[in-house]
Amino acid sequence: MSKSTDLIHAANRVPASAKPLTLPIVETTTYVFDSAADVVAYNEGRSEKFLYTRYGNPTVAAVEESLAQLDGAERALLFSSGMAATATTLIGLLEAGDEVICASAIYGGTLHLLQDLLVRFGIRTRWASAADLTSLGDVIGERTRVVWFESPTNPTLRCVDIRRVAEACRARGVVSVLDNTFASPLNQQPLALGVDLAMQSATKYLNGHSDVTAGVVAGPAALIAKVEKARRLLGTILDPAPAYLLGRGLKTLAVRVARQNATAQALAEAMSRDARVSQVYYPGLASHPEHAIAQAQMSGFGGMVCIDLGGDFDRAVRAFDRLKVITRAASLGGVESIVSLPVLTSQWGYTDDQLRAAGVTKGMLRLSIGLEEVDDLLADLNQALG
Ligand SMILES: *Cc1c(COP(=O)(O)O)cnc(C)c1O
Repeated sequence: MSKSTDLIHAANRVPASAKPLTLPIVETTTYVFDSAADVVAYNEGRSEKFLYTRYGNPTVAAVEESLAQLDGAERALLFSSGMAATATTLIGLLEAGDEVICASAIYGGTLHLLQDLLVRFGIRTRWASAADLTSLGDVIGERTRVVWFESPTNPTLRCVDIRRVAEACRARGVVSVLDNTFASPLNQQPLALGVDLAMQSATKYLNGHSDVTAGVVAGPAALIAKVEKARRLLGTILDPAPAYLLGRGLKTLAVRVARQNATAQALAEAMSRDARVSQVYYPGLASHPEHAIAQAQMSGFGGMVCIDLGGDFDRAVRAFDRLKVITRAASLGGVESIVSLPVLTSQWGYTDDQLRAAGVTKGMLRLSIGLEEVDDLLADLNQALG
């Protein structure tokens, strides 16, 4: 063999004796078959082999397996973003003429996907208030196929009775999907509460280091198979390198979430004793309107806290601009504490009426609590509010 030919093949030979402690990043687009019989076995679903990385990859599959276990699901699928997970799930489950009931307190990307894009393919959406979700039996129609909702919601962390929504859907043969991004599976287990599919932006708590964009959907094999078929065709699978990073982030999920829960609780309690703060929204506070529901369905109340400075935009902007440790940025769930002004991000462009309907004021600051010392975060908030 010539040196040039050998160079192409030699680097692909992994020593069989190597048994790495950590997950190898399998950077390959395609996989080797030993024979035509091998290909036939794959085609007929009689083999565990991989064919092509747009369909599946060992690094991605290893992290999917770990996420399926975390959610108590038969299977989980990874995507290149939370939005890729949402879009692929909806496209996989729906056809023209079908209706989605979507909570109006929902991630902005999900809202626009349904309102601006999927509507062009004949998929209609009915928007459901929190009250509609508690009496879903009256809202579900002939063509309703999917109910999509969140709990806790952004930015006011209101909680929906998840068991109740799931039961109403099951009674009518409608697929329920919970976007569990804000809680994370360690604080809330959607499938155990009766929901059909649990979706998350893995960009947030699951990866937890603000350096990977990814999404996941977990649930029973039969539903996941429909979503997987759409993922193959849309090409929305996650790449192996970010899948490795996500797998690495997952190793510390439990310690991160425990610490974020504790810091958020302490900070929410301190803020609710502060006269400069008119209201604190945190499911772990007895004053939270759905505290009892949160207690019944969450094992921890999460790392998101929202405070209101009397509805006063100028005061909110002043505090926002003065924060030094807590960083001004979008997103959430990372090791660094982050602050955003909902009226400039998730509720940007809302009219006063729309803000009122969403329960959002111009004086709100949304905090995503990271892993810093609680005293440093409190001191930062204290000087910013001063
Ligand atoms: C961020 C987020 C998404 C979208 O996830 P991406 O990874 O940004 O695509 C969906 N739902 C919620 C609740 C989110 O916070």
